[in-house]
Amino acid sequence: MLHHTCDLCGQKIQEKRFVTRVEVYPAFDPDEITEEDLDRDNLSEISEMLADMELTGELNLDSAEPKSFRFDLCQTCCRNYAKDPLGRHRTGRMRFSEN
Ligand SMILES: [Zn+2]
Repeated sequence: MLHHTCDLCGQKIQEKRFVTRVEVYPAFDPDEITEEDLDRDNLSEISEMLADMELTGELNLDSAEPKSFRFDLCQTCCRNYAKDPLGRHRTGRMRFSEN
């Protein structure tokens, strides 16, 4: 039987497993050609990119490359995650100044 561990707390997930997916992708058009692109000499970059594609079989667009993450969560961590998906309050346990 396949066992899953929670990606947040590291505990074995006993029964209820939750999956969260996070996708990061550019909200602009990475293929859009700007004047800056036209000014630059892209030939060497393009030939490097093509060489890379032959090696890896994929096109590397650096920051424009969509990324997706998938995490297994236990019920407790899922509850916490859903409250604060970006972890803004998770780290540091910030306390407001008492002044
Ligand atoms: Zn957990």
